[in-house]
Amino acid sequence: MMTETKINWLVKKKQGLYCIPGDFFIDPIAPVHRALITHAHTDHARPNNKLILSSKETLELMKLRYGNNYCSTHQSIRYDETVSLNNLKIRILPAGHILGSVQFLIEYKGYKLLISGDYKRTFDLTCKTYEPIKCNTFITEATFGLPIFNHPDDKEEAKKLITSLTNNDKSTHLIGVYALGKCQRLITLLRNLGYEKTIYLHGALMKISEYYSEVGISLGRVQKVSDKSPSELISNLILCPPSSLNDKWSQKFKNTIKGYVSGWMRIKQRVKQKNIELPIIISDHVDWNGILQTVNDVNPSEVLVTHGREEALVHYLKSLNYQSSALNLIGFEDENE
Ligand SMILES: [Zn+2]
Ligand SMILES: [Zn+2]
Repeated sequence: MMTETKINWLVKKKQGLYCIPGDFFIDPIAPVHRALITHAHTDHARPNNKLILSSKETLELMKLRYGNNYCSTHQSIRYDETVSLNNLKIRILPAGHILGSVQFLIEYKGYKLLISGDYKRTFDLTCKTYEPIKCNTFITEATFGLPIFNHPDDKEEAKKLITSLTNNDKSTHLIGVYALGKCQRLITLLRNLGYEKTIYLHGALMKISEYYSEVGISLGRVQKVSDKSPSELISNLILCPPSSLNDKWSQKFKNTIKGYVSGWMRIKQRVKQKNIELPIIISDHVDWNGILQTVNDVNPSEVLVTHGREEALVHYLKSLNYQSSALNLIGFEDENE
């Protein structure tokens, strides 16, 4: 199936990537007997697996989302521990993507495979910073794997929102953010820039934000939006899932300014399509230069590429003399960002 790859103990099955000697899948798209889970976004972490291994936070976030179906049994791995399984050694390292997101370093007969999951290199108050480590085969995402993607500074982007709030105090700001990760990262950025007012959250963002607070990531005063009437919310900031920006729920608010926080806001066509007045370009995925920097840091002989712009990156890496191919995995959505 993956005939051109250097690593010969990793294959693609219909449930996803499968490690033969370890007898486990990585982020499978259908229930399996044993899975390593890189992070709790729903396209990577699905319910009903038998045994799952991940960071403590990822396991807890999955439980929060799926209830008791999140798995039959689970094993959390600490950052300072090496788990032995069959003839393999497994370690986790921070991926810098969202709270609890990890990379898996899997060593078999001296050969090291690093699976990064989704990752970024930018500093983020809501999660541990990405840690590179030397490996032989590196699996990278390529959600923003084109040279045109060069993410701007996140503080400057957050400032745009604060400026708009200051200049439009007769309006209600309705800002679309992904519920897990982006929402909390935006809040910490705003707090660091001195925004102290209560931030109102759509009900769908509450549970996860409360979990972030419980584990010590301080979000300041946040409150459920349904506690207030639309007129009380004028001059305030409301965060909601992107899908709510144009549904019936959003129509009750007065004088709205609609924004969307996503790496995709770089693309003018998407801004227009979604009717966004205030595009804010903040991404939890690594950009083109970040990918190249990371490949350089982890120094592999082989790079396997997944998620998005695979061919362009594979082509470029080959020109730099890396062995490289596309994984073409299905079931991963780049909208969740
Ligand atoms: Zn993700
Ligand atoms: Zn992903």
